[in-house]
Amino acid sequence: MTGAAELPETSASAPVTVVAALKEADPSERRVALVPADVARLTGAGMRVVIEESAGTAAWFPDADYAKAGASVLSRSDLLAEADVILLVGTAPEEVVTATRQGQTLVGTLQPLLAPQLAARLADRGVTAVSMDSLPRTLSRAQSMDSLTSQASIAGYKAVLIAANEFARYVPMLMTAAGTTPPASVLVLGVGVAGLQAIGTARRLGAVVSAYDVRPETREQVLSLGARFVDLRSVPDAAGEGGYARALTAEEQLAQQSELDDHIATHDIVITTAQVPGHRPPRLVSAEAVARMRAGSVIVDMAASALGGNVELSKPGATTVTANGVTIAAPLNLPAMVATGASMAYSHNIARLLLSMVRDGRVVIDLDDEIQAAVVITFDGKVVHPATNALLAAPSTPVPAQS
Ligand code: NAD
Repeated sequence: MTGAAELPETSASAPVTVVAALKEADPSERRVALVPADVARLTGAGMRVVIEESAGTAAWFPDADYAKAGASVLSRSDLLAEADVILLVGTAPEEVVTATRQGQTLVGTLQPLLAPQLAARLADRGVTAVSMDSLPRTLSRAQSMDSLTSQASIAGYKAVLIAANEFARYVPMLMTAAGTTPPASVLVLGVGVAGLQAIGTARRLGAVVSAYDVRPETREQVLSLGARFVDLRSVPDAAGEGGYARALTAEEQLAQQSELDDHIATHDIVITTAQVPGHRPPRLVSAEAVARMRAGSVIVDMAASALGGNVELSKPGATTVTANGVTIAAPLNLPAMVATGASMAYSHNIARLLLSMVRDGRVVIDLDDEIQAAVVITFDGKVVHPATNALLAAPSTPVPAQS
């Protein structure tokens, strides 16, 4: 597919494009896709904005603020009937998928590489699906649209606050009349966007911070934040494509784990953020390593999900305490715990992406555009995203493990 194609007019009663932000279906999802401050950006570009009743309430954006900003507040059924463009933070729940109609555009974090069947269904329904998590991240023009970065950064910040909250000592060094407390020692494993923010936040709280990543270029970044880089002999360089890490071999993974064990045992707080695109998160913290930690130590596994996490003993969505007194937190949606800030950043990202696709108040699909070629998953009744198409064509395979 080449060239620009204007989406068909979808409703005689909607002469201008209607952009609709939905209330998220998952009750633990407190974020909202559009905040009142961004309504005027869209209306200024010739679109009408509608918002589902109480969509922003959990992020502290009352309906009245949307109305004041120029949006109409509607029930879900009225909104879905009117919408030309549907905005979501997460993926599309079943009741939204079945309510979509031909010609609508749906923008959210659709994770097409984990859920290619959703793409196939939206294509069948004639919906243009746009996925925020498919954005090319190193393109400077796309940086203001990069929700993976904005949300990972917020998650890294919150992970440190959770660790500090669970930790039963001061994080900074304090000299008081009641004695001197040493600073907490924090180890950050995985130094991508979340890890860098975790290092910065822990340093601002006064911790002594060490960090480790398999990509050698992270060493300079760690040092520039005033943290110590942990050098491992077992995995000298595991840089993969596009700035991401590659999956380690089984031997490398075992060697890495056993070398990391000594470092883990000497830290008060361990925050793990390691991910490898298209794979299960690598196992970095073994049960043996946890058994060697001091009572009162805290681990936050930021990679925890239904696919597993970086920490062998973590229970996705739960905080548990081991027999030797180590608290392991495995929160599932850290950005939702900073709902106002995370919504503001996501809204900024989604509004900029949408505006980059709008001409004369209408969404214009142009698959020759580098950003659109990456984020547009379905168009004109077809799945147009090559990686999603490849998954749909392949016999169903589980997400590969690290080895
Ligand atoms: P990510 O979430 O995929 O992974 C987090 C970190 O885990 C990465 O740093 C990765 O190297 C590390 N990791 C993977 N396996 C590991 C292992 N076995 N042991 C230790 N660490 C391991 O990464 P991300 O935060 O999405 O960032 C990915 C890349 O994208 C980085 O290079 C980042 O600088 C880059 N990026 C660039 C821009 C930009 O140029 N504007 C924006 C965002 C991200």
